[in-house]
Amino acid sequence: MKVKVINPPNDPFSSRGILIEPIDALNVASFIAGLGHEVELVDMDIRRMPANDYTRALRGGAAYDLAVIVHDYHIPLHQDGALASVKEIARQAKAHGAAVVAGGKAATYRPEKLLDDGCIRAAIQHEMEPALESLLLADDWTDAGLRDVSGIAFRSADGNIVSSSRDKTAFDLARLPIPDRGLVALGEYIDVRTILSSRGCHMTCGFCHVPGFWGGWRGRSAASVVHEIETLLAQHGAKKILFLDDNATVSKKRMKEICRGVRERGIRVAMGCLGSLSLYDRGMMEDMYAAGFRWIHYGVESGDDGQLGAIHKKISASEARRIVAETRGIGFRVRTSWIMDLPDATEDQLKRTADMILETRTEEIRLHHLALRMGSRFYDDYPAQPSSQYIHHGRQNQNLSRMEDGRVADIVSALTRELASSHAVVTNPDEFIDMDALQSRSRNLQIASLCPLRYGLGWQA
Ligand code: SF4
Repeated sequence: MKVKVINPPNDPFSSRGILIEPIDALNVASFIAGLGHEVELVDMDIRRMPANDYTRALRGGAAYDLAVIVHDYHIPLHQDGALASVKEIARQAKAHGAAVVAGGKAATYRPEKLLDDGCIRAAIQHEMEPALESLLLADDWTDAGLRDVSGIAFRSADGNIVSSSRDKTAFDLARLPIPDRGLVALGEYIDVRTILSSRGCHMTCGFCHVPGFWGGWRGRSAASVVHEIETLLAQHGAKKILFLDDNATVSKKRMKEICRGVRERGIRVAMGCLGSLSLYDRGMMEDMYAAGFRWIHYGVESGDDGQLGAIHKKISASEARRIVAETRGIGFRVRTSWIMDLPDATEDQLKRTADMILETRTEEIRLHHLALRMGSRFYDDYPAQPSSQYIHHGRQNQNLSRMEDGRVADIVSALTRELASSHAVVTNPDEFIDMDALQSRSRNLQIASLCPLRYGLGWQA
């Protein structure tokens, strides 16, 4: 089969100041290629092509059989408006005679939004590989045939949305090939290469969709991760590698094995990852530093114990303070992220958070407003709350906290004014395009950001 895997354009387009390669779409494309199909990856976001230009984006009129649209899947950069782009791309692909499938959060939780006009044949729910494998093998895409494909939704001939049964057995990550980065032009993206070394999370933070969407934590073997790191160096000259997993440090044993493998092979590259405070282990972090890890992102979210308990963060504010300090003492550059408008937050609680941010002053500080993500507990707990699926949306949620309208904004303004004495305060990701200009504002690239924050700043081996 000839297959196009599409990373749809963001709406508005993602800034070039933050754009990393679409590693989730690369994984999907490489998996399909590994099954023996001919695959092209079309990244319309980096090429700044609106959905109307999908046909032009194909660079040639060769017929193809299947379009696979990867939307808001592992990388949470697609804004709410991108959903319309998914549908327009599907409309054009169908007009080319191709079958169309889509995966990601909307396909999983709101398939009716994608299936209403009949252009997308199947919305793939949760992990895409099992359903893709079945669909690529199936010779019957009629309603009867699709009912036998686990983990999809489709619109049947009578107009109803049908969800097939879902086999909840987690996909075996050992079956994932090393992603073929040759499917994109890596030089067009920012200067940090990405790896997905695990899926899911052992935690159940109330605002987070990860455990619901991906399930419990599973990691690829240390050997395969080390092999991918070596490949990135040998084939792509990587200088910095970011583990973009939602939580790369869940298994201490596996992380230590990765570090040992990196050291034993004499691999010299700077690495970073996202990790959870609740599983912090000093010995593991020292091993990571010795292997080349230089950056970690901790989602702290709040400086108030009551709030931390309510979101199930499984850590106290004082313990989080200690871990952040210890991590920096080992030598890591640390990003912390915080949610300014958690449900039921009082002004005193938010002030405690602001105080902790000022006290810890990590090298990178990301201030968020809560996104009620489909698949999270909070999404179910606040069904009437209008919200964006975009984790970087800039609006305070109304009526969620116990503060009067405008108080969150007041406290955030006061906080960023204070942070400006030590950090460059960034409100637009385009500010990450001109790194010299940014460095003139903060020589060590200490950044406090109210928007997506570029990866790979200020760390090297
Ligand atoms: S916020 Fe992080 S630690 Fe919490 S469930 Fe999500 S991925 Fe896991």
